[in-house]
Formats: sequence, structure tokens, C-alpha cells
Amino acid sequence: MNQPQTTPPAQPLDPEFLALLACPQCKGALVLRENRLHGKACRLAYRIEDGIPNMLIEEADRITDAELAGLG
Ligand SMILES: [Zn+2]
Repeated sequence: MNQPQTTPPAQPLDPEFLALLACPQCKGALVLRENRLHGKACRLAYRIEDGIPNMLIEEADRITDAELAGLG
């Protein structure tokens, strides 16, 4: 018998958890903006899907110049 699938509510990422995350590409710090984690050094943005960061380099978005400027 299958267990019913329950979808956990989307939660904001815990800052302490976030502090443990590093960019898998350059091991640099990540900056949370909206629903993505941005690695400024390598200009990759990792999407957070259902509260879980997708840390796959090949699925990360490129950060544009404008986005990079907005990260501070
Ligand atoms: Zn990086």
C-alpha cells in the first residue's frame, strides 16, 4: 500500500542552513535573492524549488550584470 504523498508547505530558508551552503562550483558564499541562491564569484544562480535549493551546476542560471549589481 502506498503512503499518501503530502506536499510540505514552502518555507523560507533558514539563515543558519543557508550559511552552511556554498556554491558547488567555486565553494564561495551564496546570496539569497527572491527564490534563488546567487554565487557572485562564478555568476551562477541556483533555483530554490519547494524550499529545496537545486544545487546542480548544470541547472543553474547565469547571473546577468544587472542582477550581479543588485546583489551588493
Ligand atoms: Zn560559485
